[in-house]
Amino acid sequence: MRNIEQIFINGEFITPHGTERFDLYNPATAQITGQVRLADHVDAERAIAAAKAAFPAWSQTSKQERIAALKRMHAAVAARHDDLLEAVIEEYGAPASRSAWMARYPADVIAQVIEALEAFPFTTQAGAATVDMIPLGVAGLITPWNSDAGFICGKLAAALAAGCTAVIKPSEMSALQTLIVTQALSEAGLPPGVFNIVTGRGDTVGETIARHPDVAKISFTGSTNTGKAILRNAAETFKRVTLELGGKSPTLILADADLSQAVPLAIAAGFMNSGQACVAGTRILVPLARKAECEAALAQAVAAVKSGDPRDRSTEIGPMVSEKQWQRVQRYIRLGIDEGARLLVGGEGRPEGTQDGWFVRPTLFTDVSNQMAIAREEIFGPVLSIMTFRDEAEAIALANDTEYGLSALVLGRDVEHARRVAQHITAGRVLVNTLTHEPKAPFGGFKHSGVGREMGDWGIRAFMEPKSILG
Ligand code: NAD
Repeated sequence: MRNIEQIFINGEFITPHGTERFDLYNPATAQITGQVRLADHVDAERAIAAAKAAFPAWSQTSKQERIAALKRMHAAVAARHDDLLEAVIEEYGAPASRSAWMARYPADVIAQVIEALEAFPFTTQAGAATVDMIPLGVAGLITPWNSDAGFICGKLAAALAAGCTAVIKPSEMSALQTLIVTQALSEAGLPPGVFNIVTGRGDTVGETIARHPDVAKISFTGSTNTGKAILRNAAETFKRVTLELGGKSPTLILADADLSQAVPLAIAAGFMNSGQACVAGTRILVPLARKAECEAALAQAVAAVKSGDPRDRSTEIGPMVSEKQWQRVQRYIRLGIDEGARLLVGGEGRPEGTQDGWFVRPTLFTDVSNQMAIAREEIFGPVLSIMTFRDEAEAIALANDTEYGLSALVLGRDVEHARRVAQHITAGRVLVNTLTHEPKAPFGGFKHSGVGREMGDWGIRAFMEPKSILG
């Protein structure tokens, strides 16, 4: 059993004022592995005060000083790669297909911010005016469990690059990843208070950060419902907000697609991070004229996906993060059947050969209408829906007929044509015949998928505001 007893405020590991203990689980066994002592609103207020006190000096540091600090953070986080790998497997069951990336990404994203900062223009000319980019102040950074270490590092690096100081509220379910990252960052020798890490509940620590008058900016990644609550709470004090929220992303298999190439990409997009990814391509749109062929190829591919022990090298889908999430996936599979969708592969229950963990069967529905709940709501598990279109206009209309707008994938043999289709899709990122990530490009969503953008130049800008000086 592992007990995590401390939070990090003003450059020190301290025992929180909060006394509640929260159970930590290994989702592959459904066993409790330890407990984390949670911070409360008093701790959140202390952390905000420390970040406020540190802001005047940090906001005056030069670009070179910030780059040097970020390089130390990068080295310290990279040195904990092996511990992070173990943590993402134990803590949320990251499958072999994902865990290596998850362990590498926290350091990589700091390096990406360093590159963006090196090129960042803090002062530009607009006609007769000089425009200075000014850091906003104390930033509240709130992360989800599905990439906790990566979001802590990415958001913090961008905030510090801009000259903000930070209070981080990581997911309470990711205390082990948070501990490793906090230990690493504490060794990077940043001035006390520049960053503070307070693991606690969303409705206490998260709400305190979202409402506090001394917090100027919120950068949040998580569910759309929590994003709405944060937006409302932040309104009272006019906080600037970046919200990276949920998705129901479409994958368009165009009429000319080569299925031997399209299907593996469609499945990888849908089952990314065991289906627990905001960008997961869960609605697969196929041409009506090729319906039977697409169904057969997709069904064969889904049936071959191994769901089970995250430590097994061949596993592509690990357990769901919690029992609640497991129940949610079961409920949506039942709902799909009740709504009249036709189950091609998978279904309720656990996959063969697995036992107590929160394992689910990779599931593929067809004959799904875009009005069904399984086509409209984010399931956050490996459940995919096939829908048909008669022509490209209908494909684009279906792709855009969603509350979300985070990501989309277009698959076709004629790349120029596929790119033209991509131009009509309302999503923050549209991938054409690839799943490659571009860290220099902005990332974020239209509509209910969020507000604002992260990554690259946009990610740093999100923690700043322009000030024009004339005359
Ligand atoms: P969640 O919204 O339940 O929690 C996210 C974080 O918000 C946690 O730290 C939680 O404690 C905190 N929180 C909860 N209530 C709060 C409140 N009232 N005020 C402030 N903070 C509060 O999300 P989750 O289950 O941890 O993560 C899954 C969700 O995140 C999915 O919907 C997924 O699509 C989304 N997500 C989006 C992206 C993206 O980049 N767009 C990336 C990953 C995950």
